[in-house]
Amino acid sequence: MDQIVQHVIGGQRINGGGRFGEVFNPATGSVARKVALGSRAEVDAAVRAATGALPEWAAATPLARARVMFRFRELLEANAKELAAIITAEHGKVLSDAAGEVTRGLEVVEFATGIPDLLKGEFSDQVGRGVDSFSLRQPLGVVAGITPFNFPAMVPLWMVPIALACGNTFVLKPSERDPSASLMLADLLREAGLPAGAFNVVHGDKEAVDAILEHPGIAAVSFVGSTPIAEYIYRTGTAHGKRVQALGGAKNHMVVMPDADLEQATDALMGAGYGAAGERCMAVSVAVAVGGVGDALIDRLAPRVRALKVAPGTDPEAEMGPLVTRQHLEKVRGYVDTGVAEGAKLVVDGRDLKLQGYENGFYLGGCLFDEVKPDMKIYRDAIFGPVLSVVRVPKFDDAMALSNDHEYGNGTAVFTRDGDTARAFMHGVNVGMVGINVPIPVPVAYHSFGGWKRSLFGDHAIYGREGVRFYTKLKTVTSRWPTGIRAGAQYVMPTTG
Ligand code: NAD
Repeated sequence: MDQIVQHVIGGQRINGGGRFGEVFNPATGSVARKVALGSRAEVDAAVRAATGALPEWAAATPLARARVMFRFRELLEANAKELAAIITAEHGKVLSDAAGEVTRGLEVVEFATGIPDLLKGEFSDQVGRGVDSFSLRQPLGVVAGITPFNFPAMVPLWMVPIALACGNTFVLKPSERDPSASLMLADLLREAGLPAGAFNVVHGDKEAVDAILEHPGIAAVSFVGSTPIAEYIYRTGTAHGKRVQALGGAKNHMVVMPDADLEQATDALMGAGYGAAGERCMAVSVAVAVGGVGDALIDRLAPRVRALKVAPGTDPEAEMGPLVTRQHLEKVRGYVDTGVAEGAKLVVDGRDLKLQGYENGFYLGGCLFDEVKPDMKIYRDAIFGPVLSVVRVPKFDDAMALSNDHEYGNGTAVFTRDGDTARAFMHGVNVGMVGINVPIPVPVAYHSFGGWKRSLFGDHAIYGREGVRFYTKLKTVTSRWPTGIRAGAQYVMPTTG
């Protein structure tokens, strides 16, 4: 991996204006490399490159664009291990999890290879006598993506393949905390035959983001990240006339009914609560224990949380790696302190974990709270770390009300053997993605991903057919050929019949 992570603009790697940030290896806590931090000049240059590449790329047939996606898919698969290693090196998640992230991203590329079919419009014969009507979808132009640290390959891949396959060109502003994966995506897209300038990467912080939001040459922005920033992106981007989809944070509840298979529910909570050290937007951070199930659940969870194997992500035995930065580690640890101060019962305390040989790494052991109450900060806020809160409620309706009343509405799940309960939950819950005995219901690439409430700002979920709608504009044509009947000038609103 390069010592300086550069921008990719018009197919060239450049350092830009001379501002740099530090990229850490979270497993050791040391600075691994530097990342160029772009500003208005780099964003301008990237938009110019993307605008230059647009006419040729937009005019390519959908089949020709699909073929580039096919080649990109093959290259991604061939380089999956290397990409996973890059993710682990900068994010910290365990290698098998990083490989899973690559696969989920690759599935969106597979979806995008179907673009000729996905772009098919609708046709109505004879909407009037001798008059036909049809609709088609055309690219928006230059579009941008701004992505979070927690999925440095998968989240860009939620956006880029579909946007490109629709005929747009792209400017990506990846997370400055783990920026190297985006360079590999840029290399593989070029190798797949994408013209230079059709995909550009500008690294950076708020300065680059603001330049994107204000740039008149960018038609649309896709954002994934935390809720306060998502709301800012949505308001600022739309105020500058752009189409914006901005996906935000989460506090995903998993409801455990008294009739649930408790072994299965415990497995689910372990994976969904502590996998990727809780740094997933679909991580379960609240277990809602209904009826008398709380004690049995805590009895099963506590020893497993204590036994979690925390180690560098490259250790094949590791179940959980470090957090992404020291700052984030301190924030999550601070939440655990707050929970204790608020009166929640800390059943497992991972705050003092130290790994021999990795004393400066950003590690936190798994933490488990019981008797968490809805007015506590640890219940209301998105902690985004390996901290699971158990809330006990008497009845199903109370569990439903908790999910419905929370400000976030990304994902949720119910564990039960009862079909009526599952259906009532699925139908009534005010949350965008629901699992029934499935803890992390991330939709597959041919469905679409999107939360409700303050987990998504904008009208479109991401990828799947929603992605195609987001990255295209609809044109509807009404056509008549001049051999038809001449009716003369008509001064009334045309009607059919
Ligand atoms: P973040 O909001 O801090 O950063 C996201 C992006 O915004 C980054 O590219 C960053 O450089 C940029 N950014 C940060 N601060 C900014 C500012 N003040 N002005 C303009 N741009 C700014 O998020 P993160 O910490 O990288 O990622 C974790 C968050 O993302 C969590 O809240 C998680 O729930 C959320 N997330 C949501 C989804 C989803 O699909 N809803 C998926 C993944 C992650």
